[in-house]
Amino acid sequence: MHNAVKVLISEDEIRERVHALGRQIEADYHGKPLTIAAVLTGSLIVLADLIRRIGVPHRIALIQASSYKGATTTATTLVINESFAPDVADRDVLLLDDILDTGQTLSALIRHVNDRGARSVRTAVLLRKIGRQEVPLEPDYCGFTIPNAFVVGYGLDYDDDYRHLPYVGILDGPEATPH
Ligand code: 5GP
Ligand code: MG
Repeated sequence: MHNAVKVLISEDEIRERVHALGRQIEADYHGKPLTIAAVLTGSLIVLADLIRRIGVPHRIALIQASSYKGATTTATTLVINESFAPDVADRDVLLLDDILDTGQTLSALIRHVNDRGARSVRTAVLLRKIGRQEVPLEPDYCGFTIPNAFVVGYGLDYDDDYRHLPYVGILDGPEATPH
């Protein structure tokens, strides 16, 4: 059973915005060794739509980043799995994530990719939540700024469901609490 989902960003709005971002990225990375490093799993849908608008040669990398809250502290540990990330040394890396929330994931990944010897590292997010950021980080490309609500669809899940929705929506219902 699916909970009700209230549409926040429609399929048409997403398509238009993703196309615009694609054209911008294409222009910015013309003639550069671009690797788009997508953070699994939420960014898969935007990755697929975005790269079909980027008409310059580029590679794809997939990175899995899981965060664990410490039992006794509030510190978060990020475990990074890059089995599907080709060498990024001397590449211009564009990290792509579904949503910028606290910013912990992307800021750790920026450091990680820099340590791997990337030529440059930038960030792209489909969504950015207002009032949640804990780490100073300005995404270089941002699709939409959204209110502080738990959203699903277009790649974003709740309990591994709802990723298939063609729009971004707010999950309605008693169990609609993040993480
Ligand atoms: P951050 O490190 O910025 O706090 O975490 C970003 C990650 O948290 C995203 O990649 C996503 O997996 C998850 N996340 C944060 N907010 C939401 C949300 O509203 N909906 C969903 N489905 N995931 C979220
Ligand atoms: Mg994620």
